[in-house]
Amino acid sequence: MKNEINIIHVDMDAYFASVEQLDNPKLRGKAVIIGGVNLDNRGVVSTASYEARKFGVHSAMPIARAKKLCPHGIYLPGRHTRYQELSKQIFNVFLEFTPRVEKLSIDEAFLNVKGCHRLHGSSRKIAEQIKKRVLKKTGLVCSVGVAGNKFLAKIASDLDKPDGLVIIKDEDIINILDPLSIKKIPGIGKKTAQKLNQIGIYKIKELKSLNLMELIEIFGKQGRSLYNLIRGKDKRQVSINQQVKSISNENTFPRDVTDSELLLKYLLELCQKVTRRLRKQKFIANIVFIKVKDNTFHLTTRRITLNEYIDSTDDLYKHSKNLLKDINIKKPIRLIGVGVAGFKEKSNEQLSLFNTSNKDIDFNLTIDSIKDKFGNKSIRRARDLLKKEEREKK
Ligand SMILES: [Mg+2]
Repeated sequence: MKNEINIIHVDMDAYFASVEQLDNPKLRGKAVIIGGVNLDNRGVVSTASYEARKFGVHSAMPIARAKKLCPHGIYLPGRHTRYQELSKQIFNVFLEFTPRVEKLSIDEAFLNVKGCHRLHGSSRKIAEQIKKRVLKKTGLVCSVGVAGNKFLAKIASDLDKPDGLVIIKDEDIINILDPLSIKKIPGIGKKTAQKLNQIGIYKIKELKSLNLMELIEIFGKQGRSLYNLIRGKDKRQVSINQQVKSISNENTFPRDVTDSELLLKYLLELCQKVTRRLRKQKFIANIVFIKVKDNTFHLTTRRITLNEYIDSTDDLYKHSKNLLKDINIKKPIRLIGVGVAGFKEKSNEQLSLFNTSNKDIDFNLTIDSIKDKFGNKSIRRARDLLKKEEREKK
């Protein structure tokens, strides 16, 4: 199979203005401008609807100037709570497809959909589904770019706004980038663009005529990455967003537990659940936490940051058991919970060969795939079976 392009950039179209038009039908089809509504007109435009853009109004423009260009526009102060609320729904849609979501702003994100194809289809399919789901859940329209890296994906989402879906395949990179204005390159602001214009550089193709040393001379340290970007190369990873901060499971017992052996069995079961979810997302974690609630509803928590990253059941069990030992348990226990945080994407080099034997890794993955196929109860560890026997004895 050819290299699948896995980076998606989603950007809501005229976000604040679109939300206002969504909530108030009277504003639809009209020039809506969100920004300061001070009498002195000193604020700047934060978003202009596409109807307002036709008059040359754009974001970051002083309101006073916007009012000259578009005197009949509807100027609104904006409702941030509402924008946040819808933003949450939008990001939840992203998370339906992949846990690898990097939030850039309230209405913009990078997604890495590597490993999501068996479940959701090709990157194009995923992009189409995201557009559909966002529209269905919120009534809002977005533009999506799909490419092999962040830089190209962001360029792609901007190429056919609004309601765009553009895929930049490797073989199209030069044809798409070369004719673009240098202003489209993130990091090249108005001033830099003007400087480059003075030496006859307007388009990316022209910027490519400068060699690496010349770019470093003009842009300093940024010169090197710029040299690569305009050739379609970008090594930046999609960094996992705060959206998935931790993974945890807890169990409220049918009857309060006084037997420490039984408590450990429950703990092991939870560790299996948590690490299975962790492995499914292909994360490794270096923070372990537990919580214990006694029959008077008193809650105790413990957490530890490890020197290693883990994803195996045995490792989590070992560390959470140590945390549990640290709690002075005097009363019957009503609930126990265990979780992990401090995520990193799992790659083969990051596996600690000292703490987790390869055998253990294989074992965990085998169990996961059996559970995937035959369900959660299909396979259990010896200690679980013991528990079952115990129950049956009683
Ligand atoms: Mg936007």
